[in-house]
Amino acid sequence: MTEKFTTEPRGVDRLRNPWLNRGSAFTEEERDKYGLRGLLPPHVSSKEEQINRLYGIIHQYELPIHKYITLESIHANDESLYFQLIARHVEEFLPIIYTPTVGEACQKFSYIFRYARGLYVTSEDKGRVDDLVANVPNKEVDIIVVTDGQRILGLGDLGANGMGIPIGKLALYTACAGINPQKTLPVCIDVGTNNEALLNDPLYMGLRHKRITGEDYDALIKEFIEAVRKRWPNVIIQFEDFHNSHAYDLLRQWEKKVPCFNDDIQGTAAVAVTGLLSAMRVLKQKLSDQRILFLGAGSAATGIANLIADAMAEEGTPREEACKNIHLFDSKGLVTTKREAEISAEKKPFACDLAPTDSFVEAIKEFKPTAIIGVSAQKDGFSKECIEEMARLNKQPVIFALSNPTSKAECTAEEAYKWSNGTCLFACGSPFGPVEVNGKTFVPRQGNNHYIFPGVGLGSIYARTKEIPNRTLLMAAKRLASLVSDEDLERGSLYPPLSDIRNITAEVGSAVADYLFDQGLATVQRPADMKKAIKEFMWDPMHPHFVVGQ
Ligand code: NAD
Repeated sequence: MTEKFTTEPRGVDRLRNPWLNRGSAFTEEERDKYGLRGLLPPHVSSKEEQINRLYGIIHQYELPIHKYITLESIHANDESLYFQLIARHVEEFLPIIYTPTVGEACQKFSYIFRYARGLYVTSEDKGRVDDLVANVPNKEVDIIVVTDGQRILGLGDLGANGMGIPIGKLALYTACAGINPQKTLPVCIDVGTNNEALLNDPLYMGLRHKRITGEDYDALIKEFIEAVRKRWPNVIIQFEDFHNSHAYDLLRQWEKKVPCFNDDIQGTAAVAVTGLLSAMRVLKQKLSDQRILFLGAGSAATGIANLIADAMAEEGTPREEACKNIHLFDSKGLVTTKREAEISAEKKPFACDLAPTDSFVEAIKEFKPTAIIGVSAQKDGFSKECIEEMARLNKQPVIFALSNPTSKAECTAEEAYKWSNGTCLFACGSPFGPVEVNGKTFVPRQGNNHYIFPGVGLGSIYARTKEIPNRTLLMAAKRLASLVSDEDLERGSLYPPLSDIRNITAEVGSAVADYLFDQGLATVQRPADMKKAIKEFMWDPMHPHFVVGQ
């Protein structure tokens, strides 16, 4: 064990410290050294025994939310053990600690809350955010995931309950990217909530007033970013689950000033482009040959649309031309140039000259897309008629139902494969099991940002980058797509297997770091072998290294 201490907590202080606690695995020698004798059952457990014991406990629960609660209690009690457990059963536990179960955990956050984790900055803290940041026990922080809880997955405004998302995302940073958990910080900016049910819920733990917005909101975010950058000058900031009305503004305001990215806009874009690049290998076509129609025109859709346009432009199609092959359909119907209401700056490049319609099937019939991408959080958004029409128009239609959680997916994997008679190239935002159609078994894989954001963060942290330009995400997408094998494609999988996520993330992280070095944005020395350097940089829960004391 390679811990360094600036103080040496002993006895119960050690047992109650999740960075230092090893529970029943404390050795005889450690029990003497740290005054633990008599405070633990006598048998010294091996790591294997601890993992098996906990795995057995979790397996007693049927409901994913009960598994989540149990895992979080381990997270609060012994961090290295929690991450060893996750690493051992990554495919099984990712859907618990992250989407879809984390969605339910956020909805119930104020009911299942037991252990404090992360930093809460509220609109009442204006003028004293520095003091709050000084209270954080982590000596160094490399990455922050921050939300204001206004658009949690497809579940809407969950206020302070949204804290479950940064917690889950940062758990993935450790599990997938090997970022030392002690160097991660989940942050909730609580500016109130417009969710009446929460405001009237006696157990709700956030501020009980409507959201503040405008200048006060911007000033609080500014104070927060300046405070964390002051204490940790290299920290990367990942914006997460902000409402569309703030997401782009925040990114534009900060992307040139601090190393930051918005996962909903940029991470989603990269993962969707990866799926499309894989689909192109099957179709033996170029991205520029595609006509793409989105259901949904929010942060995710416009982020993906922009990155697709960038990728088409890299293939040689002028960007303006590329945009003409990408259309959006939102809650008001097809986004056309004839729309009377003002179209936002993000949607404008993709507004089309087709006749307005509020029927998605009609839009498919008119535009004749080769691909439809669902990011609308509308269950049944892709009806049988839509998918049958896509299969009529295309030999192999591309159908991505990316909305989260599972209850919000535009269609299920089974529906997509059955209604297209097994012809579609499918990706989903939520986990779906294999589907058999016409004697062939398809293995759909999640087109989920968990393939991308950990690598983007890892590469950016390694490079100690000054900025994270949008093109970094295209580099991440291309590297991820290169990891999809022909066997994966044969099974209908447009992404590599999740079981290999640490290696996948190391690859994505290397591509990101290489790009940042190429752009002159890195502030450390370039290693001779990037992949080797990145792998060595990754924290290993089997050999935890924690520093205690401010
Ligand atoms: P958003 O709120 O910014 O956008 C939602 C969009 O859907 C809006 O344009 C809205 O007009 C549109 N919409 C609502 N009702 C509609 C309807 N009936 N028909 C057509 N369009 C409709 O949200 P977002 O950030 O863009 O996220 C959307 C969804 O994508 C969420 O479910 C989110 O969880 C999911 N998502 C998935 C991933 C992933 O990794 N798979 C990543 C990011 C977001």
